[in-house]
Amino acid sequence: MCRRNFSARPSKCSENLLLRQNYYILVLNYGTFLKAGVNCDKKSLFLYVNCGNTAMKIKLLGKNLEELKKLVAEEGLPGFTAKQIAQWLYVKKVRSIEDMTNLSKAARARLSEKYEVGVTPYSGLQISSDGTKKYLFPVKCSHKRGLNPEVDEKELETGAIEAVMIPDDDRATLCVSSQSGCRMGCKFCMTGRQGFHGHMSAADIISQFIAVDESDRLTNAVFMGMGEPLDNYENVIRAIEILTADWGFAWSPKRITLSTIGVLPNLKRYLDECKCHLAVSLHDPFGPERLSVMPAQGAWPIQDVIDLIKQYDFTGQRRVSFEYTMFAGFNDSKAHADALIRMLKGLECRMNLIRFHKIPDFPYETSAPVIIENFKQRLNNCGLTTTVRASRGEDILAACGMLAGQHKKQE
Ligand code: SF4
Repeated sequence: MCRRNFSARPSKCSENLLLRQNYYILVLNYGTFLKAGVNCDKKSLFLYVNCGNTAMKIKLLGKNLEELKKLVAEEGLPGFTAKQIAQWLYVKKVRSIEDMTNLSKAARARLSEKYEVGVTPYSGLQISSDGTKKYLFPVKCSHKRGLNPEVDEKELETGAIEAVMIPDDDRATLCVSSQSGCRMGCKFCMTGRQGFHGHMSAADIISQFIAVDESDRLTNAVFMGMGEPLDNYENVIRAIEILTADWGFAWSPKRITLSTIGVLPNLKRYLDECKCHLAVSLHDPFGPERLSVMPAQGAWPIQDVIDLIKQYDFTGQRRVSFEYTMFAGFNDSKAHADALIRMLKGLECRMNLIRFHKIPDFPYETSAPVIIENFKQRLNNCGLTTTVRASRGEDILAACGMLAGQHKKQE
């Protein structure tokens, strides 16, 4: 239950209402639940209700080693404590400072006064018939966060985001969100339709990796969930730093792909600063057509995006791929295929064709399977390695372009 729903603070604590730190603990007895028809095998059920009677604590999650070193120095703790905290946060993935057992009791008590770990548990879960799982998370987000990761808590707004876990043989890929909503406004995307609610913090981005049930067996991550990751650059890059640093998750950059529509200035920074893979939402090689479904084309034309990418080397470990959603009668002609071949000539890359998942008030359907197959063949025959991406989680609205952060109760 969120603080907003529990604004009236009781004037005194009864024996059934205990006050601990910033939580009221409601102790409800077994009989209450029997009367309510709830089957419960315990004598009592403890319902923790955040009453927000203390100042909001600062999250440790999302901090890099440098920041943790500064933090422990400010708290008068030994320097080596910073690395220990990083281990507890990102390797052992504890949920509370109290669980950091190689820190002295005094150190834990001191840290707990001001800080918390900051993992946000999921508030909803849906499971697809193909095993894909969609998690819903509440987040605190800010319109300013793209410019300044240290936003005043008072300026934060509550939003909802989704993360999708896609199992595939021995792989478990987490598709993570970086913003609540999105301000790019792509007309074929449910996230774009809902508008922009704010940038997520690095803490909330990393929290998705820890809070999902598959946390310990994730093999890959794609920044393809809600939001445009390069529109929230500082927080996304911080999250990638934590995922790839040896004091953090210690993942190889090869396990991470960032998907963008091509936010040019930050795309250049990403290509200069980061070794992870890149995926570009291309969807149409012709400027005016692309503009009609992707307003961002007006600011960052796709030809400029491709020209920039061609300045970088993708023949080694780092890969670039292009996403191309197939709309019947709009972008699936031979002329489109030929324009793509011309546009990407000389670039070591892959093309992923995506079947479109119909959304309301968008005029196009997905292309017919035979059209998609012919399009693929044409590209492959001209040397552009092309695959059709399998659609996953469509029955729970977890497939590409379907994430909308709708609040669903845990099932
Ligand atoms: S497709 Fe990506 S960039 Fe476009 S509105 Fe959706 S989330 Fe934003």
